[in-house]
Amino acid sequence: MSGIRGKVIVITGASSGIGEATARLLVEQGAQVVIGARRLERLEALASDIRAAEGSVELQPLDVTELDQMRAIVRLAQDRFGRLDVIVNNAGVMPLSPLEALKVDEWNRMIDVNIRGVLHGIAAGLPVMKEQGVGHFVNIASVGAYSVTPTAAVYCATKYAVRAITDGLRQEAGGGIRATLVSPGVTESELAKSITDDGTREFMKEYRRNAIPASAIARAIAYAIEQPADVDVNELVVRPTSQV
Ligand code: NDP
Repeated sequence: MSGIRGKVIVITGASSGIGEATARLLVEQGAQVVIGARRLERLEALASDIRAAEGSVELQPLDVTELDQMRAIVRLAQDRFGRLDVIVNNAGVMPLSPLEALKVDEWNRMIDVNIRGVLHGIAAGLPVMKEQGVGHFVNIASVGAYSVTPTAAVYCATKYAVRAITDGLRQEAGGGIRATLVSPGVTESELAKSITDDGTREFMKEYRRNAIPASAIARAIAYAIEQPADVDVNELVVRPTSQV
C-alpha cells in the first residue's frame, strides 16, 4: 500500500507538540491513527477533535519505557484496524543541563524514554511487520543527532543512538520494511518545559524564539510515509531557516 489513505499508524507521544500535529495531519490525509502518551485527558481531547471531523482514531495510555504497554498499543491497532502499517516513535524528553550539575536521574530518564522507548517500539512492531512482510518505522531524532552542544551532551547522545538504531534497523529489517529518521530543529512544543536547570532554561528561552510550528515536522513525517512502498526516505533534517 502506498500513500497515506487507509494506513494504520501508531504514534507515541501524541498528547502534544509534534506527535499531536502528526496525528492531525495524517488523519486529514486519510490515515487510521492509534495515539499513545501518558496524559490521557490530552489524548481524549485530541481524539474527540479527530472524531468530530469524522477521522479514524483509537487511543491508549502509554508509557514507552514499559515494553508491555508498547506491545498493548500495537495489539490495539491490530485488533481495531486489522494490521500495523507504521509506528512513529516520537515520544521524547529533553531536560537539558550541564554535565557538572550531575542530574543523574534526568540522564537516566532521557536514556529510558528517548532510547529504550524507541527500542520498545521496534520490539513491539517488528515481529508484526515481519509477519505482514511490510511496515515502516519513523523514528524522531533531532539536529542533536548530528552535533553536540553544551548542556545537551546526554540528550544528543540519546539522539545519536536513535540515528544509529534507525540505520541499523533499515539495513537489517529487509523485505518490505522501511526505516526513516526525522530530525527536527527548534520546533514549537512543550519539550523545553522539562528543563529544571535555571541557567539552561533561561538560555533556551532565547534559543527557541524562532521555532517552526510542529506541523512543519508533521509534513516531513507524512512525506516519508506517503512514498511508494519501494522508496525508503532514510533521513530528513528539518530546522528553522534562521537556525545555525
Ligand atoms: P513535547 O514535549 O510537546 O512532546 C513530547 C511527547 O512525548 C508528549 O506527548 C509526551 O506525552 C510524550 N512522552 C514523554 N515521555 C513519555 C513516556 N515515557 N511515554 C510515552 N510518551 C511520553 O515535545 P515535542 O513534540 O517537541 O517532542 C517530540 C519529539 O521531537 C521528541 O522525541 C523530541 O526529542 C523531538 N525533537 C523536538 C524538537 C523541538 O524543538 N520541539 C527538536 C528536536 C527533536 P506525555 O507527557 O503525555 O506522556
